Amino acid sequence: MEIRRDPITQSWVVVGQQESSGDSAQPCPFDPGTIEKRPSILTWPAEGPWQVRVLPHPDPLYRIEGDPGRAAEGMYDKMGAIGAHEVVVETPHHDKNLSQLNDEEIERVLWVWASRIADLKKDPRFKYVAVFKNQGPLAGDEWSHAHSQITATVFVPRRVKYELNSASEWFRERERCIFCDVVRQDEKQGKRIVDVQGDYYALCPYSSRVPYELWILHRRHNHHTLSKKGELAGYWKTLSDDFHWHIEILPILEKRSKSYSIKEVYFNSLLPEQAAEQLRALDPNT
Ligand SMILES: [Zn+2]
Ligand SMILES: [Zn+2]
Repeated sequence: MEIRRDPITQSWVVVGQQESSGDSAQPCPFDPGTIEKRPSILTWPAEGPWQVRVLPHPDPLYRIEGDPGRAAEGMYDKMGAIGAHEVVVETPHHDKNLSQLNDEEIERVLWVWASRIADLKKDPRFKYVAVFKNQGPLAGDEWSHAHSQITATVFVPRRVKYELNSASEWFRERERCIFCDVVRQDEKQGKRIVDVQGDYYALCPYSSRVPYELWILHRRHNHHTLSKKGELAGYWKTLSDDFHWHIEILPILEKRSKSYSIKEVYFNSLLPEQAAEQLRALDPNT
């Protein structure tokens, strides 16, 4: 298994990995009584019955040991599939999904994400940590038990790099954070805002890639969930000014959503303003 870079689009591709598909006929590997037999990276709480557990992905895309060994192959760039790939089991209950957990349980999952990011950041080989959650068969979930995944990679994925560069360029030209500008503009227009809870905004972005795409942003500027302003100054000079942490939710409602995304042109059948209106009318407690 290795990672190759497309010299034209600059995308990194993990090659030589068999796609794993959770075998639904097998007993769930994350239920209490079974999961304890697997190595644990983090268990919360440490004593007594667990609520959240982090374990190495049983079939990882990246492996933790070794040096990336970046090498050229003629004009091409490649390196070893070095990185971290972890599974966060969000609840011991097999039949509950994240939205059915109570606030305290959800807060615990977010705390575990933040704590794993902080730990993986200590490894100088890693340039990017992603927390993602595929829920439901259309989104390609590997197990039905509520879980999310964390990867740490020795490269910055292309879309993220693009996002960072655009934000940095916006800041250079205007001395304002692009995400703060989005919040202010959408606050003024109102029609794409789905919910406001304290200082947190949920909105359907102007150019939503799929129906009901949602971003969750804090209205006050902060580039990182954890670090203080300026902490990453050496790595990215203006990152603390021009990046603004947020969560992106992309519901996959149709099979074609995924294949269209490969071309990086999205066909969204629903106007974000209509999506926001429909989402505002929903009662999240039903
Ligand atoms: Zn289960
Ligand atoms: Zn901002």
